This record gives sequence, C-alpha cells and structure tokens, in this order.
Amino acid sequence: MAKISCVNCSDLTRKEIKDLKILAWFTSVYCSDHHEPPRESLSGLPPQLLSLERYQCCSECREFLSYAIERRLNCPLEERPVCKHCKIHCYRSDYRQKVREVMRYSGKALIKRGRLDLLWHYLF
Ligand SMILES: [Zn+2]
Repeated sequence: MAKISCVNCSDLTRKEIKDLKILAWFTSVYCSDHHEPPRESLSGLPPQLLSLERYQCCSECREFLSYAIERRLNCPLEERPVCKHCKIHCYRSDYRQKVREVMRYSGKALIKRGRLDLLWHYLF
C-alpha cells in the first residue's frame, strides 16, 4: 500500500480522527462479511492515524480506505463539512457509493450483534 500523502494532517481535529477511525472500523466489519481473506492491516498511515492499524481489510478495501483517508486529509475546505453535505464531492462516485454501503451495512450489523455499546463509545 502506498504511503498516504497529507498536506495538513497536523491540524486534524479529534473529531476528524474519530470519523476516520469509524470509517476504518466499519470497513473492516463490512470486509469480514463480504470479502475473502487474506486481510491485512492498513499501512502507510500518517502518525496521527496509526491507531487505525488494528483494522484489517482485504486489498480492495485497503485501497478504498487509503483513498478515503487521503481525500479527507487533503480536503481543501476550511470548515471541512461532513462529506455528505459537501458541495465539492471529491470522492470518486464508485467510492462514494461504497462509503454509503459500508456505513449502512456495518451500522446495522453492529446493532444486530448487540454492539451498540461500542457504537455509543465511538460516537459520543
Ligand atoms: Zn474487503
């Protein structure tokens, strides 16, 4: 996996780091239910995001995550709105589709497995 480039990751806020953690976590949940192993940790992460290394995904999902993380880290907007409300929509449209699918699937899966406590812990 290529190293994730980052022009302004020193000013990542706690919220942004949390958002990316949730995305990596949800992608790993989605991956383990949809894709075949082998799965590996993310690599090439910038220092602020090293904790994302514990999430393992197949190569396709790692590609996707590094793209998503890179986009987010290099977002040109001052306010960095939630991507959903963003007017630029810098994600490739197939990846945007995948983000939606991953969040929907994994959110439901965690609720079904009674892991709302985890979700709670992450979101609040
Ligand atoms: Zn996968």
